[in-house]
Amino acid sequence: MKEIIAAEFENEVIAGGKVVLDFYSTECPPCEALAPKFEGLAGLYGHQIKFVKMFRQQNKQLAEQLGVKSSPTLLFFDKGVQLPGMLSGGIKRSDIIHHLDNMLSADQVNEIKGKIKPVVTDFDVLILGAGPGGLTAGLYLCQSKINTVLIDIALPGGHVSTTHEVSNYPGFIDPQPGYLLSHNMSEQTKLCGTSYKVAVDVTKVDLEKKEVVIDEFETVRAKKIIIATGTSPNLMGVPGEKELKGRGISYCATCDAKYYGDKEVVVIGGGNSAVEEADFISKFAGKITMVHQFDKLSANKQAQEKLFANPKISVLFETEPRGFKRVGDKMVTEIEDLKTGVRSELVSDGVFVFIGMKPNISLFKDKLELDQWGYIKTNEDMRTSVPGVFAVGDVISKKYRQITTAVADGTIAAIVIAKELD
Ligand SMILES: Cc1cc2nc3c(=O)[nH]c(=O)nc-3n(C[C@H](O)[C@H](O)[C@H](O)COP(=O)(O)OP(=O)(O)OC[C@H]3O[C@@H](n4cnc5c(N)ncnc54)[C@H](O)[C@@H]3O)c2cc1C
Repeated sequence: MKEIIAAEFENEVIAGGKVVLDFYSTECPPCEALAPKFEGLAGLYGHQIKFVKMFRQQNKQLAEQLGVKSSPTLLFFDKGVQLPGMLSGGIKRSDIIHHLDNMLSADQVNEIKGKIKPVVTDFDVLILGAGPGGLTAGLYLCQSKINTVLIDIALPGGHVSTTHEVSNYPGFIDPQPGYLLSHNMSEQTKLCGTSYKVAVDVTKVDLEKKEVVIDEFETVRAKKIIIATGTSPNLMGVPGEKELKGRGISYCATCDAKYYGDKEVVVIGGGNSAVEEADFISKFAGKITMVHQFDKLSANKQAQEKLFANPKISVLFETEPRGFKRVGDKMVTEIEDLKTGVRSELVSDGVFVFIGMKPNISLFKDKLELDQWGYIKTNEDMRTSVPGVFAVGDVISKKYRQITTAVADGTIAAIVIAKELD
């Protein structure tokens, strides 16, 4: 793979036939996550497609001209024309393959697929999920000199990386931006020497054999597994929700609130997350209407007081959403008054949903003992019902799900495992 500068762009890319160009930066964790995948695919596709990379900071002007706004960004070219669709952020191997395959004929793709060789890698401990629970377990295991790998379907950090501010993680006098806290946790664990395989597709998990297949070709084996896969937001299951997810309906205020400057927003929910995130969204939006199914909010008193003192926010109690649709650039939320059964429409610029979470267990739920809500049962050592398999953080059955409790679980599992493997 060749590294080029802007002056070589015409020759190497525009006149270069089929080309994939990686704009990377230094001190960029997603760029580090991409590098081995890009190298690996260059080895596979290199005869048909040219792989080049360019240092974005030193070639800023060209990057801007090409519409590159973040690192890493992959651009695809054929016969001097930039193809539609660029990839950036936590780029998955499967997404790159999809783009590369579209540049080739079916025969060429089949020939390349025939060359993919399965790979097996061995570790002492495999941690599924690199949120606070998994990262802490990784840190403790690494400091005990145990060969550990962290596997995540996204970039490291878990929910903390998309939380606006964290004010209750001990050791910091001022509230910390969530992305910074999770970045620091991840860097601490990585610097210690824990291996990372992130932004991968986890395609199979065999808890008994302690094997996880990632990106369909690599089997990662270990003596112990820690499940730290956390939770995902609950969906409402009403018409229009799936279709408008990411197109007017968001589950992440940190990610999307900034796009609603002075606009009108609907927030669904009434627990701590909904109340705190509504307060955050009000820094941008001009008007917020909360829709909550009960006659009282269930958030803590302090958060409620702040919310009721905020002139931009009003709450519709005992009301539930029944459907969503887009009309022009507006979102229309159909709501039902639960006391009267009367339905009406709320017109806004966007909708945020915070109605609780569900555990991420779909790949292994049949193998483990779960509680009635589907969370993994563990004992005080964080052991699950499968020998050699531990679980930590939000994915386990417990009363309080916080960064501190996830970190504590990760600590316990790692110490127990370190003693066993010693
Ligand atoms: C909006 C919001 C605000 C919050 N604010 C606070 C706060 O201020 N203070 C506080 O203490 N707590 C807060 N929390 C709770 C806190 O974020 C969680 O308790 C904590 O992140 C749990 O850590 P975890 O490691 O268990 O899981 P997560 O942080 O959920 O991380 C799980 C990781 O597993 C990965 N994963 C999922 N499925 C798979 C799979 N199949 N294979 C591999 N990897 C997978 C995910 O990509 C993710 O990176 C907040 C939560 C939310 C949603």
